[in-house]
Amino acid sequence: MGTRVVVLGGGVGGLSVAQELAERGFKVEVYERRSGFGGKARSIPVPSSASEGRRPLPGEHGFRFFPSFYKHLPDTMKRIPFASKSVFDNLVDSTRVQIARAGKLAFLEPTQFPQTLDDWLTVFKSLFSNLGIPDDELAFFIDRLLVYPERMKKNLESTGGLIFSGQLLLDLAEAGMLREEAYRLVQSHAMRAWKEDLVFRDEVAKDPAITKLLSPEKLARTFDYERQLGNVGAIFKRVIGE
Ligand SMILES: Cc1cc2nc3c(=O)[nH]c(=O)nc-3n(C[C@H](O)[C@H](O)[C@H](O)COP(=O)(O)OP(=O)(O)OC[C@H]3O[C@@H](n4cnc5c(N)ncnc54)[C@H](O)[C@@H]3O)c2cc1C
Repeated sequence: MGTRVVVLGGGVGGLSVAQELAERGFKVEVYERRSGFGGKARSIPVPSSASEGRRPLPGEHGFRFFPSFYKHLPDTMKRIPFASKSVFDNLVDSTRVQIARAGKLAFLEPTQFPQTLDDWLTVFKSLFSNLGIPDDELAFFIDRLLVYPERMKKNLESTGGLIFSGQLLLDLAEAGMLREEAYRLVQSHAMRAWKEDLVFRDEVAKDPAITKLLSPEKLARTFDYERQLGNVGAIFKRVIGE
């Protein structure tokens, strides 16, 4: 016979420990202080919520959801039989999450990064509902969302390379400049370019303190859009899936 183990507390923690040990041959006993198992995760019958001999409706201690990045709890659930299936099979995928607010309209948001026009409409509705914009006008607007890549590039170019100031700081630090010094140098160029309407990219290319560390080729790489976009495919895949 396996070693006897006594678990005090029959919440998710105690019950999971009991299950893992029992599967490994231990003889487990769970002692729970309350009349039922489950601890904070148990359903609590709501008094006077049923009539005609039915069971009271189950209330919850709080919100109850299991994000898809949870690994251990679903794994445990898969090993708990429920009728002919498992507890895990009772989980339902959700596409929307609603956040209630006292005295205000609730927020309704997609559970994933918006992927469809309908998702975007949901996001916009919750963002703009307080402004009184009618739903059909929002739908009209969303339906006409257009993307002009050339215009976007032009807008980016209008900064004269200022958007790469962070990258310049990192490249200078990597090339041996003290981070504090790189910060001060990049910031002073950025502020001057901003105030005097100069092209930041051209100004830094004239500064010997910078060019002695970064060759023209390296500087071109500092201001390279492709470098910034190198991982964009992988990032989108991670955020919104295949
Ligand atoms: C409002 C709220 C919402 C939550 N929502 C979610 C969610 O959506 N998804 C999610 O994954 N998690 C959620 N959680 C977290 C999750 O509910 C808890 O992490 C989990 O239930 C804790 O389990 P536990 O076994 O560690 O503790 P508990 O659930 O507290 O269990 C401890 C058990 O030990 C018993 N006990 C205590 N002392 C003794 C004793 N001396 N002898 C015998 N028994 C004893 C208690 O009666 C209790 O049953 C939420 C938590 C809260 C508070």
